[in-house]
Amino acid sequence: MTSPESLDVLRRVFGYDAFRDGQREIVDHVVGGGDALVLMPTGGGKSLCYQIPSLVRKGTGIVISPLIALMQDQVDALRTLGVRAGFLNSTQDFEERRVTEAQLVAGELDLLYLAPERLRLPATVELLDRADVALFAIDEAHCVSQWGHDFRPDYLMLSGLHERWPDVPRIALTATATDATRREIASRLQLEDAHHFVASFDRPNIQYRIEPKTDAKRQLLRLLQTEHKGDAGIVYCLSRNSVEKHAAFLTENGIEAVPYHAGLDAETRASNQARFLREDGLVVVATIAFGMGIDKPDVRFVAHLDLPKSVEGYYQETGRAGRDGQPSTAWLAYGLQDVVNLRKMIDGGEGDPAFRRRQAAHLDSMLALCETVECRRVQLLNYFGQSGEPCGNCDTCLTPPESWDATVAAQKVLSVIVRLDRERRQKFGAGHIIDILLGKKSAKVIQFDHDSLKPFGVGAELRETEWRGVVRQLLAQGLIAVESNHGTLLQTDASADVLRGERKVMMRREPDRPATKPAKAAKDRKAPAADLPAEAQPIFERLRAWRAATAKEQGVPAYVIFHDATLREIATALPASLTELGRVNGVGENKLAKYGEQVLETLSSPEEGQ
Ligand code: ADP
Ligand code: ZN
Repeated sequence: MTSPESLDVLRRVFGYDAFRDGQREIVDHVVGGGDALVLMPTGGGKSLCYQIPSLVRKGTGIVISPLIALMQDQVDALRTLGVRAGFLNSTQDFEERRVTEAQLVAGELDLLYLAPERLRLPATVELLDRADVALFAIDEAHCVSQWGHDFRPDYLMLSGLHERWPDVPRIALTATATDATRREIASRLQLEDAHHFVASFDRPNIQYRIEPKTDAKRQLLRLLQTEHKGDAGIVYCLSRNSVEKHAAFLTENGIEAVPYHAGLDAETRASNQARFLREDGLVVVATIAFGMGIDKPDVRFVAHLDLPKSVEGYYQETGRAGRDGQPSTAWLAYGLQDVVNLRKMIDGGEGDPAFRRRQAAHLDSMLALCETVECRRVQLLNYFGQSGEPCGNCDTCLTPPESWDATVAAQKVLSVIVRLDRERRQKFGAGHIIDILLGKKSAKVIQFDHDSLKPFGVGAELRETEWRGVVRQLLAQGLIAVESNHGTLLQTDASADVLRGERKVMMRREPDRPATKPAKAAKDRKAPAADLPAEAQPIFERLRAWRAATAKEQGVPAYVIFHDATLREIATALPASLTELGRVNGVGENKLAKYGEQVLETLSSPEEGQ
């Protein structure tokens, strides 16, 4: 049974009608004093799982979070809701910290955000001893996992919370959730006996699309211009250089975009991040250093221009799209060179053999996702140990790819590789192999006399891009390997079976020109208002303009005032009184008091109406 108090807080403070899947059980458990390990996808609604218990239980909820740069925004958002929140981290001066500490000890805080490294200080431990602690929430709990991609040494100390404060419930939360990671989190944080809550990892509003990379810039531009005009989004690239290049390219083409990577100074990074959070419709081009903990709800697309290194990483990054539940796109373009580069990086990289094997396994899963002819979502869910039905909202469901018997093509590629293997000192990449198959007398072909090889010119049945697709898929299937020094393509143990005709090779057929707008689901969407009834659109725009002005005035991100989804509901429901406005999802008591009159005024203001 949900305590009536929790539901009351959800409605009164947050303005939401009902708990989402899983939230209610978690809240009840923690309110009752139980420990919990929560696995929920990005955007699933983890924050409420500790915020509501912190408000319902006596004392202050302590939230451990590595996201120092976002604490101010998180606290601002809570204060707008009327929650008494504060934070302690290294960005504050002594006086600011002193004030917050005094509030904590005086019992004047519902929630306190704390950087993990502060727990190393004896003074912090003493401070917490003097306070009345309602619970410990360990956010981004995968940071405790040594093999994960976000390991933070300070997180290891969190195992001590339990010993020091045995009676305070702990709730650890993460969106990274294979079985192995989960076991590691549980053991390191001593949460083996805690209740494990595993939510569905499906994000039905996100449309997953993966296409072969032909001309990454043009493909990206087409996506943004035809489907995401005026939308906020994130474009991920592997290198700093590529980040800079693509941000400039988008800007030149009339799409406002800013770069974000570790090579920029801290001030530029902070200001670009702040602009992304505060402004409507800005694009950030970034390395994966960007985005953790960014809870901007209206990110409409996440685009990857390079192949992510693991499905976990990919899922976490794409999960930043569409937290508000509105339709969003996760789009990835990847090509042969991506596979070559990553394989080289792993084989020639740092770390012991076991670590490299793990990385190779991660890459194989990622490639399997890219090359599948089945539903992407089903494959993703399977990866996280969950099952699903073909979703109807991914590229393979919308335009089912054909698979074809590529055994003969594979044999042709392999026969060239076998022959080149005899001249191993030279570097022969995919381009050279394809030239030989196509019978092209390139300078290199002539130099090495490769026009006299038996397979020279045997590949006229496919075009160059198609051969690149074949080579890429052979790499993905482990039927050829990459030599780590030069990137030369080599046979593998499995190649022999193919050459002998003992193994059939099936491949995904490359579309001539990848469908950028698969079927009906992604109609020309311009602004986020496009799916509103026509008469509501100007009202929605008016509300947005009011929100932008108010946000600017108060120095907070627009979504802290109201989400798009809330403005949309207001624009269609047209509440005539404060009571009616208070029934709209996302309008809590505090926001009603603060903004209610202004919203009603905006609704009735005639000047821009029709
Ligand atoms: P996570 O931390 O799991 O990525 P958040 O806690 O940031 O997700 O929640 C994602 C979004 O969903 C937020 O904008 C939040 O306000 C909204 N949300 C969470 N729970 C509910 C609910 N019960 N009803 C409506 N919106 C919700
Ligand atoms: Zn699908």
